[in-house]
Amino acid sequence: MRVLAVFAHPDDESFFCAGTLTKLASQGHEVYLICATRGEQGRIRHPAIDETCYPKGEARGRLREKELEAACAILGLRPPILLDYQDSGYPLEVAQANPQGFMHQDLPQVEDVLLAHIAQIRPQVMIGFDPQGYYGHADHIHLHRATLGAFWRAGNVMPEPPKYLLFPVRLKEQVARTKFDPERYGVSACSVALCVDVRPYAETIRAAVLAHASQAGSEENFAQVLEDWPGLLEEECFVLGGVRGLSAEDLRSLLG
Ligand SMILES: [Zn+2]
Repeated sequence: MRVLAVFAHPDDESFFCAGTLTKLASQGHEVYLICATRGEQGRIRHPAIDETCYPKGEARGRLREKELEAACAILGLRPPILLDYQDSGYPLEVAQANPQGFMHQDLPQVEDVLLAHIAQIRPQVMIGFDPQGYYGHADHIHLHRATLGAFWRAGNVMPEPPKYLLFPVRLKEQVARTKFDPERYGVSACSVALCVDVRPYAETIRAAVLAHASQAGSEENFAQVLEDWPGLLEEECFVLGGVRGLSAEDLRSLLG
């Protein structure tokens, strides 16, 4: 099986669904990752990385690209495919004031770019952002729209378009332990299609997250990461963003 994950910044893959990605790779599936930007507006959290050596923009993007390559190697993924868009920044006011940012890029054009990669990789399963962008980052929400559009448009250009689109999400109870609004960014258990026990991959997830040193901070700081990301080493849940090929009979049995 071929799996294609589509995320916006280096580290999204490691924080949102590293366990599932590495599980699939360890089972012999081909796992690809598209990363829309190099995260060049991200803050640096590691005490030993001198911010002034990596100012926001190209230098910081290069640093984060290297971190992403290392994380992909740890997880057993193919080398990441960078789309060369620019990180809009966070929060929304910052992103809105950055006209070069990904959130301002033409949506149909982004869909075209994704579609070309989908047609080449021919994944059976895609993984991408939910409508809330996991925690509301404007780039995540923009990429959600493009990914959803490309997933459905793939049916027009491919003999065997991807069958499933999955969105990693967090349960309301988990989001309630963070600074984010659980009503907006949390999902109820009854909405979840699939939960993956990632405890067997805890060490790999930890290593992938720490490979994003500029974002995760030092190893000594990992307890803080776990506090900010409850459930990171335990379970990853997904909602179904799209399914193709459900027969009329399946639907009739669903709807009576
Ligand atoms: Zn992100």
